[in-house]
Amino acid sequence: MPKSATYKLYIDGRWIPSESRETYSRVNPANYNEILGRFQQGNAKDVDKAVDAAEESFEKWREVPPPKRGEILLRAAQLLRQQKEELARIMTKEMGKVLTETRADVQEAIDTCELMAGEGRRLFGRTTTSELRDKFAMTVRLPLGVVACITPWNFPIAIPAWKLTAALICGNTVVFKPSSDTPICATKFVEILEKAGVPKGVVNLVTGPGSIVGTRLVKHKKIRAVSFTGHRDTGAQILKDAGVGKKIGLEMGSKNPIIIMDDADLKLGLDGVIWGAFGTCGQRCTAASRVIIHKKVRQKFERMVIERTKKLKLGSGLNPKTDVGPLVNKTAQDKVTGYIEIGKDEGAKLCCGGKVPKLKGWFFEPTIFTNTSSDMRIFQEEIFGPVTSLTEAKNLDDAIDLANAVEYGLSSSIYTNNIRNMMQAIKYLEYGITYINSSTIGAEVHLPFGGIKSSGSGWQEVGWTAINFFTDEKTVFIDYSGKLQRAQIDIE
Ligand code: NDP
Repeated sequence: MPKSATYKLYIDGRWIPSESRETYSRVNPANYNEILGRFQQGNAKDVDKAVDAAEESFEKWREVPPPKRGEILLRAAQLLRQQKEELARIMTKEMGKVLTETRADVQEAIDTCELMAGEGRRLFGRTTTSELRDKFAMTVRLPLGVVACITPWNFPIAIPAWKLTAALICGNTVVFKPSSDTPICATKFVEILEKAGVPKGVVNLVTGPGSIVGTRLVKHKKIRAVSFTGHRDTGAQILKDAGVGKKIGLEMGSKNPIIIMDDADLKLGLDGVIWGAFGTCGQRCTAASRVIIHKKVRQKFERMVIERTKKLKLGSGLNPKTDVGPLVNKTAQDKVTGYIEIGKDEGAKLCCGGKVPKLKGWFFEPTIFTNTSSDMRIFQEEIFGPVTSLTEAKNLDDAIDLANAVEYGLSSSIYTNNIRNMMQAIKYLEYGITYINSSTIGAEVHLPFGGIKSSGSGWQEVGWTAINFFTDEKTVFIDYSGKLQRAQIDIE
C-alpha cells in the first residue's frame, strides 16, 4: 500500500485527530488502486467540541464589522485564485470530474467569496413608513449563532463556499461536515479560510460518517440552522431529526428535463443535451436526465443524440482528451447498473451505453434510453449517472405536462425560437430554474439557486437569498413621540 497523508479535524483553530482514534481511506475513483489519504472518522464527541468552540467564538465574531469579515473572504478569493490549478487537480483525483469542470468548481468558489465579501457592505434591511406620527420602522439583520453546513461530493469546493461564506459574512460561526467522499477538498478549503484570517473557532471541520457526525450536528441543541445539500432521503431524515427551533435549508436531487420544440435549433439543443446529461458524468443535481422532444423532430433528434453520445471518450479527468470521468464510488456504479436493468424491464429501448467498461475505475458508459414514458421509474427517479431518457411529446402543452410529471423541481430548459413557447415555459414549468436555449446546468452565483417540490425546502442558496437564510431579520420600531401610541387604535 503506498504511503499516503493523514488528514485531521479542525476544531477551535487546531488540526487534531478524532476522539475515536479511527481513520478511513479514500481512493481515486478513476483508479481504485491509488489511495489518496486517511481521514478522521469523527464522532459525537468531536461534534460537541466543534459546536462548543463555535459557540464560544460567536460572541467575538458577531462584533467584527461585516466589511472587515468581507476583507477575509476577499483574501480567501485571492488564495483560491493562486491555487486554482492545484485545487482543480486534487478535486479531479478525489471525485473524478474532468479538469475543465473542476477548474470551474474552484472558480465558482472564487466568485462566491467575492460576492459575499461585497455583501459585507450591504446586508440590507428595510426602512419603511409607520402608521403613527413620530415613529420609525425598519428591519435589521442579525446573525443566527452556530450553524451546521453539510455538503455533498459533486461540487466539493463550490458548495461549501456557497454555504460557509454566506454564513460567515452574516456573522455566524460554523461547523462544517463535508461528504466522506471529498475530505481533501474540504480540508484545503478550510486551510484557505484559516490562512485568509478566519479567527479560531469561527469555522470548524468535522469529517466522518453522516449517520454519526451529521446526525449529531442536526440534533444538537446549540445549532441554530442546518444548511444541507444532498440526497432527498437524507434531507427527509434531517427534517425528522432536527426538531423545532432550527432553520433547515435543504437543497436536494432532481429529474431535470430539456424540452426540444419542433422549431428549435437542433444543433444547439444537441450541445445542451450532451453537456447537461453527461457533464460530471451525470452526477449533478441539475443534470439533464430527461429529454422531451416534439414529435415532428423526435426521430431526427434521437439519431443526433445517439450518434454524438457514442463518440464520448471515457477516462481519467486529468486527461484533456476525456469527455466523461468516472462515477464517484462503487455504490454509485452499482446503482446506475441497477437502473439499466429497471429501464429494460420497463420496456424502454437501450440505444447506446448501459455497461461498465473494463477499466480500473468506477466508470460507466454514457447511456441513452428511448421509448420512455412518464410511468417508468427511469423517467421518475434520480439515477445520478450518465443516463438520459428520451420521450416524445405531442405539442408544447404535452411537453410541459411531461416535464412537470415528477416529484422534483430544480432545473429545466426549453429549446425554441418561438417567443410564445418561451413565455409559456417560464410560466408553467414547475422548477426553481428555467433556461431558454441553454442546458439545465450553468448556475451563476449572484442569482438565487434552489429547487421547489421535493428538490428543496424553499430557502434558495447564493445570490441575495442566502442572506435571508443565514440571518434573522428583526423588526424594529422606534417611537420618539414621548407618549404611548397604540397601533391600530390611535390612528386618527
Ligand atoms: P447524501 O445525501 O448521501 O450526502 C450529503 C451529505 O449528507 C454528506 O456529507 C453525507 O455524509 C451527509 N449525511 C448522510 N447522512 C446524513 C444524516 N443522516 N444526517 C446528516 N447528514 C447526513 O448525498 P451525496 O453526497 O451522495 O450527493 C448527491 C445528492 O446530492 C444527489 O441527490 C444530488 O442531486 C444532490 N445534490 C443537490 C444539489 C442541489 O443544490 N440541489 C447540488 C448537488 C447535489 P457522508 O458523505 O458521510 O454520508
